[in-house]
Amino acid sequence: MTINHSVFRDLLLSWYKVSQRFLPWRTTTDPYKIWLSEIILQQTRVAQGLPYYERFITQYPTVIALAKATEQEVLRMWQGLGYYSRARNLHSCAQTIVEQYNGIFPSNYQALLKLRGIGPYTAAAIAAVSFKEVVAAVDGNVYRVLARIFGLTEDIGTAYGRKQIHQLATILVDQIQPDTYSQAIMDFGALQCTPALPLCSTCVFQLYCIAFQTNRQKTLPIKTNKLNKKKRYFDYLVIRYKNTLYMTKRTSNDIWKGMYDFYLLESKCRLELDQINDPLVALVQKHNIRINTAKKEERHLLTHQSLFVRFHTIEANQSFLKDGEDLLNAYTLHPFNQMEIEILPKPILIQNFLKNSH
Ligand code: SF4
Repeated sequence: MTINHSVFRDLLLSWYKVSQRFLPWRTTTDPYKIWLSEIILQQTRVAQGLPYYERFITQYPTVIALAKATEQEVLRMWQGLGYYSRARNLHSCAQTIVEQYNGIFPSNYQALLKLRGIGPYTAAAIAAVSFKEVVAAVDGNVYRVLARIFGLTEDIGTAYGRKQIHQLATILVDQIQPDTYSQAIMDFGALQCTPALPLCSTCVFQLYCIAFQTNRQKTLPIKTNKLNKKKRYFDYLVIRYKNTLYMTKRTSNDIWKGMYDFYLLESKCRLELDQINDPLVALVQKHNIRINTAKKEERHLLTHQSLFVRFHTIEANQSFLKDGEDLLNAYTLHPFNQMEIEILPKPILIQNFLKNSH
């Protein structure tokens, strides 16, 4: 028996009354705080995102304060959350709101959608929670909950499958309290109808849930196109001189743009360092400088990429630095002492290397 829409809403809202999570952004309708929490929580668990949210709000209590920060400061605050383009977009969006909207968030879904880094889900979440607009915020939680309860078998990896759920989600939004409804369905997906182990035995939808009735919790929602991750092989040459390390700011449109790392050699497959034809490595060899290669290859997983990373450290001497001056400049490699490195924004991979190499 498919559940009636108003019964669905009633059950969900009454579940939320007793089971909701108490989170700092739940006690406000300030679009700045809602936006910040949504951006931080994209692909991040609440437990991990919460301290970041609190640090951001303390450091930048308003969108104006965030807009005034430098990109480097924002990246440094974001360090460890990954997906650094989100931090850059967050900062750029704050500046747009200050410059073009007088520091006031646009108050509807369509206008929010025009802002950098704000996609359909985030725009809908802000519009519903801050401005009570009747609009469906649909993310992975909502796909899962609706596919299971309504027994939807279209592949959510396809545009058609997603559209089907969007249409249903839009019909289901509560007309009077879209804000509470939106938070309720998020919490229900995060706490009760979880991906791997849904708590069916205590679920208010048991009687109606098609997945439960037909024992298909494990197979719904259907998603066939699994991500094929690209493999990348990184060799970092870490140049140490006295108490400094040579680092460079990443400027290309690749992962970690705006953050700092070491001299990077990238290959299509795993090669030994002396198999890589590189002028800086050749210079190290010419100066007979010992290369200290870390025993363990690090594996670092990103959404669309798997990185296989090795670190090679060298202790540079003056003649090497003099001989390599032009090369180091060409690669924008500059020496930083420990205190300077501390405040640079760095990918977590680099941060961990630094922590372990002390
Ligand atoms: S019965 Fe189980 S699968 Fe169905 S909505 Fe509840 S928790 Fe999810």
